[in-house]
Amino acid sequence: MHSGNCLCGQIRYEVDDELDIVVNCHCQFCRRAHGSEFVPVAMLAANKLRILEGEELLSRYEVTKLNSFRCFCSICGTRLFNHNPSLNYISLVTATLSDSTGLNSVANVNMESRSLGFEQTNGLPSFDTVPPMEKLQELK
Ligand SMILES: [Zn+2]
Ligand SMILES: [Zn+2]
Repeated sequence: MHSGNCLCGQIRYEVDDELDIVVNCHCQFCRRAHGSEFVPVAMLAANKLRILEGEELLSRYEVTKLNSFRCFCSICGTRLFNHNPSLNYISLVTATLSDSTGLNSVANVNMESRSLGFEQTNGLPSFDTVPPMEKLQELK
């Protein structure tokens, strides 16, 4: 069981999952939303995440092109997770976890829209898009 919260602490969640599939997402949406060259996210089934407090403060920005929602705290702006209802899984921003001990990225994903001025040197397998979960499972 893992838990986490946003910067202001009003949204708290827990995750009933090992979080053993973490990827560095380099897509243009993550880069802009987070103001960062890439963002480590843990992939998990949507029903594994439970909002304990502050659900009413959770804002959802829809990226219509992707049919997915970027979910963040409306008070402090912390990006917590992304949810694509048609895929039924979420990508949880690992930086919001209270304790990320033992978590390690297994791949770089969405490299086709990465920041061109940014040279990735971490040596992880890299993919143009997000590979199927079965493929990611093999990498952990
Ligand atoms: Zn907050
Ligand atoms: Zn992304």
